[in-house]
Amino acid sequence: MGTGRGDGLSNDKVGYIAMKKVALRESRSILTPQKGGFLFSEPYPFTHTLSPYTGCGFGKTACGQFCYAQFMPNWTNLANAEHWGELVAVKSNAASILKHTLHGMKQSDRAKLRIFMASTTDPYQPLEAKYHITQQCLDVFAEYSDLDLLVIQTRSPLVMTDFERIKQLPYSWLSITIETNDTRFIHRLGGGPLPKKRFEIIQQARLAGIRTQIVVSPCLPYTPSFLRQLVDSGASRIVIDDFVSGDGTGGKRTSASRFVSLANYDWRDSSSARSLYFSLKALGIEVGWSAAGFCGIQPRNGIQQLTLL
Ligand code: SF4
Repeated sequence: MGTGRGDGLSNDKVGYIAMKKVALRESRSILTPQKGGFLFSEPYPFTHTLSPYTGCGFGKTACGQFCYAQFMPNWTNLANAEHWGELVAVKSNAASILKHTLHGMKQSDRAKLRIFMASTTDPYQPLEAKYHITQQCLDVFAEYSDLDLLVIQTRSPLVMTDFERIKQLPYSWLSITIETNDTRFIHRLGGGPLPKKRFEIIQQARLAGIRTQIVVSPCLPYTPSFLRQLVDSGASRIVIDDFVSGDGTGGKRTSASRFVSLANYDWRDSSSARSLYFSLKALGIEVGWSAAGFCGIQPRNGIQQLTLL
């Protein structure tokens, strides 16, 4: 395992930032079992996560200022002296391991799979345009129609190139992160895919016949039109979250992040996030709060599956 080239393909400029270093790695496994924690929450816990990359090319954009993934062991073990957003490890054998894993499963076990892709990276970060690791994984999933759920979680317009693939998976959901509609706030934090573009992804996905979800996670300061934009998006469900509920440590990870010095408001105050949640609920929109919201997509067979593989 681990070719670990760490070959520093300098100025690999794809999309929003220039990555300083890209490492090609071979992983021993690709589906990470969930045995506790945020994504293993009721009512319908995920059984696994799948991260095609370690590290994230959006790490120097707005979301990288507060991203909890920079505190996770898979990154800290890799990072050495590198800063979040300056190094990404590409799991070059992800698709072949996934194929081997799914092929080796009994059909009854495969039917229980509820996979979140991805919890510690963005599967459609800029490097995906070059390495296509996520796309290769989707091609493997296309060989199986019997999984329970695959949530593809991204903020990146690059996902639109894979709509045909996603659409063909009867268990796929496209989940787009839109933490705020305040473009100025996003710019002030460091930029990245803009809210308008992310709403457009939802709109185009719906037109393509893909099941869609918006996650406002964590909810950042927003302008009054955000509620209407969320309602009009037509997303099938919405998840709202705040920093304290959503960073997995009751706000400790956030308090250790660069965001704290950039935020000009009380980021621990969840009132605006909760106000959005209750307003959507009052309008009859399917909306979930934090972990229960992320884990709120019903199993396809209608039976709650708490037994893990
Ligand atoms: S896209 Fe996701 S994983 Fe990447 S830096 Fe932003 S929040 Fe973190």
